[in-house]
Amino acid sequence: MTETASHAAIQVNNLSKDFGRIIALRSIHLSVAPGEFLTVFGRNGAGKTTLLNMISGVTQPSSGEVLIFGTDPRELHNRKRLAVISHEVFLYDNLTALENLEFAASMFAVDHASERITTVLKDVGLYHRRYDLSQTFSRGMLQRLTIARALLHEPELLLLDEPFTGLDQHAIALLTTILARQKEKGKTILLTTHDLFTGVQLADRFVILEKHKIRDEGSMQGVDADTLRSRYFDLIDSMEAGQ
Ligand code: ATP
Repeated sequence: MTETASHAAIQVNNLSKDFGRIIALRSIHLSVAPGEFLTVFGRNGAGKTTLLNMISGVTQPSSGEVLIFGTDPRELHNRKRLAVISHEVFLYDNLTALENLEFAASMFAVDHASERITTVLKDVGLYHRRYDLSQTFSRGMLQRLTIARALLHEPELLLLDEPFTGLDQHAIALLTTILARQKEKGKTILLTTHDLFTGVQLADRFVILEKHKIRDEGSMQGVDADTLRSRYFDLIDSMEAGQ
């Protein structure tokens, strides 16, 4: 059995995070199988970004454990196996789209870099703008370039934090297609959102984070956006009534 097959892609054990006196997350348990697509729903401040940052190894847990393919997310080989797409754009303004991707390709030692760069630029619809400085790009175009950069090294695990924010309808459809293709290829995907309509159709499973804990979770099989929406608001109402 391969390493990937014998471990969960993401294993979160009893994870908690405090920022001083602020409780961000409490006692989170989560297991995502290789090839699975999990969507984490939650309101502003629920703890979605904090969870994602601990899974990617950017933020240190206060207690508990995160394992990516069985090892610490900060280990170098895991960094090459995962990619993070968030609404923060980490690109070099004074480089062209092509140069940004060439730089990323050299950092990740991407094989056949030139072909891969062409492929990802075409996938996100930016090939015709490849010689333009990224500082001349619109926000949605920067988001597309960020997606291209994330896919460049063909990561096994994609972590997406509110990836639809700032995208127009066309770009939302494009990202949905890209994610569907990644899923078909057997990639593992964890996506966070506060929007109960985006990210629903592709997910195999969902988790609802509310007040720093997982309050509901289940399979998306047979669950449409309307069902999820009423389940979500029932949960919020019952928690607020219990306060
Ligand atoms: P949003 O949908 O608004 O992005 P979120 O679900 O991603 O919210 P987090 O950003 O994870 O929520 O924040 C969870 C809690 O942790 C909030 O109460 C937030 O104020 C707090 N928090 C997050 N980062 C920090 C930090 N660096 N310092 C202090 N508190 C923080």
